[in-house]
Amino acid sequence: MEERIQKISEAIRTIPDFPKKGIQFKDITPLLANAELFAEAINWFADSVKDLGIEVIAGIESRGFIFGAALALKMGVGFVPIRKPGKLPYKTFKEEYALEYGTDALEIHQDAIKNGQKVLLIDDLLATGGTALAAAKLIEKCGGEVAAIRFLIELDFLNGIQKIKNYSVESLVHF
Ligand code: AMP
Repeated sequence: MEERIQKISEAIRTIPDFPKKGIQFKDITPLLANAELFAEAINWFADSVKDLGIEVIAGIESRGFIFGAALALKMGVGFVPIRKPGKLPYKTFKEEYALEYGTDALEIHQDAIKNGQKVLLIDDLLATGGTALAAAKLIEKCGGEVAAIRFLIELDFLNGIQKIKNYSVESLVHF
């Protein structure tokens, strides 16, 4: 493995049984606290999309905001938050998706993206893919083109990539 990816991987801490029994929670806070590694992660995101003509970045609440906003500054493009229901104040589009038990939903401002804009979708982690697929649909409802989806972490064994296989998807670290 490339050395920078190895170091980033080592800065991600696994917390067993959080927030509930059976979940191996990937805690990125040690990575964020390390200025050098945080910058390396942002550089990787930027490199991975450099030829795609990205015009705007959409980040998924809440850890997608951290990477998405830092990356938007580096790339010189705007940032659009995709949020949990009831948080965005203006007119929204809403997309529901299935969880292991029950459903959850995400929202986006209806005017957040211009027709035909090339959007990069960012989140910290790809698990089952339900969250990312709902976010991609929201971008498309606004008239945007999901030019790429990037994650810091992908949990390969959950095969979430299958749900979003019609998009350009890459992740920095695989577990
Ligand atoms: P999914 O919709 O199953 O792909 O879940 C992805 C979302 O849930 C992301 O926004 C992650 O931040 C969060 N998530 C899911 N599983 C984990 C995990 N094991 N550790 C940390 N975050 C997780």
